[in-house]
Amino acid sequence: MSNPKIILTGDRPTGRLHVGHYVGSLKRRVELQNSGEYDEIHIMIADAQALTDNFDNPEKVRSNISEVALDYLSCGLDPEISNILIQSYIPELTELTFYYSNLVTVSRLQRNPTVKSEIKMRGFNTSIPVGFFTYPISQAADITAFKATTVPVGEDQLPMLEQAREIVRSFNSTYEEVLVEPDALLPENQACSRLPGTDGKAKMSKSLGNCIYLSDEPEDIRKKIMSMFTDPNHIRIEDPGSLEGNTVFIYLDAFCKDDMFAEHLPEYSCLQELKDHYQRGGLGDVKVKKFLYQVLMEELSPIQARRKELEKDIPAVMEILRQGSIAAREVAASTLDDVKRAMKINYFD
Ligand code: ATP
Ligand code: MG
Repeated sequence: MSNPKIILTGDRPTGRLHVGHYVGSLKRRVELQNSGEYDEIHIMIADAQALTDNFDNPEKVRSNISEVALDYLSCGLDPEISNILIQSYIPELTELTFYYSNLVTVSRLQRNPTVKSEIKMRGFNTSIPVGFFTYPISQAADITAFKATTVPVGEDQLPMLEQAREIVRSFNSTYEEVLVEPDALLPENQACSRLPGTDGKAKMSKSLGNCIYLSDEPEDIRKKIMSMFTDPNHIRIEDPGSLEGNTVFIYLDAFCKDDMFAEHLPEYSCLQELKDHYQRGGLGDVKVKKFLYQVLMEELSPIQARRKELEKDIPAVMEILRQGSIAAREVAASTLDDVKRAMKINYFD
C-alpha cells in the first residue's frame, strides 16, 4: 500500500476569515477535499496559537471560534470528509511541543523571518512572550501529530514548514523513524500566495485592519474596493497607469477569470487586454474597481448566502467542532504513543 495522503492546515481564531485566507489556502482545501485523493483531512482552529499573542484577550479568541467555523462551512468544507478541530482540546499537541523543544535552538527560532516580522508588527520589541516565540515548534507538533504529508498554506507559512521538516529529520535521526516530513502546498498564482491588503501593504492580515472579510456586507466590500490603493501616479484617466504594486490588478489576478468579462465588462475579452489599456492610458481606476467588485461578488455571494443559513444554528456548528476534536484527539494520541516509545519514555507499556 502506498503511504496515506494526509492534509493538515488551519487558521488562528483572531477574526473572521478574509479573502487572503480564501485564495491563499481555504479555496485549495475545498478543491483538495472534493478531489477525493486524500485519505485524511484535518482542519485546525488554532486557538492555543492565537493565545500566544492574545493571551490577555481570551474573549476575542473564544468568540472567533464559531466565526471561523462558519467561514469554513460556508466555503464548502464538509465535516463528513474534513475533520474540523479545536487545537486546545488536544493536550497531546502540547506534550509533543515540549519534547520537540529539545530539538530546536534559540538562535534557530530567532532566524525565522515570519516570526521576526510578526514580532515587529506586534511591537513586542524585547518583551516577546516565550509562547509566541516558540509557536513554530507548536505548529510543528500540530502538523506532525496528524502525520500530515500536505499543508496547503500561503507564502508566509513557508518558514514554519521548514522548521517542521527540520524537527522531523532531527527526531527521526535521534530516535526512530516515527514522524513524516510535510510538504507545503502553495497557490499556483503569486497573487494568491500573499494577497496584499486593501491599503497596498504586503499582506492582508487581520492584525493590520486592511482586510475584505468573506462575510462583509456587499456595501462595505464596495466601499473598501472604491478606496483601494492603486497607482498613485495615475491621476488623470489619460495618464498611463502602472500595474506594479497596484492592488486592484493584483486582486484581479487572484479572482478574475476571463469568462467573467462577457457579463460584467464586455468591451474587453480578457484580463490582459484590460491591463494593456490601463498601461497605455485612457482607463480610469473607478471602472476597474467597479469590475473588481462584480468579480469578487460573483465568488462571495454563494458563500455569503450559505453563511446566513448556517448562522441560524450555532449549536450545530459547535457540535461539528466537538465531534471533529474528539476524532482528532485519537489520531494525535496515537502519534504521541509512537513518539514516547521512540524516546524510551513508555515505562508502563
Ligand atoms: P493574524 O494576523 O492573526 O496572524 P492572518 O490574517 O495572518 O491572522 P492566519 O490565521 O495567521 O491569518 O493564517 C491562516 C492561513 O491563511 C495561513 O495558511 C496563511 O498563509 C494564509 N494567509 C493569511 N493571510 C494571507 C494572505 N494575505 N494571502 C495569502 N494567504 C494568507
Ligand atoms: Mg498570521
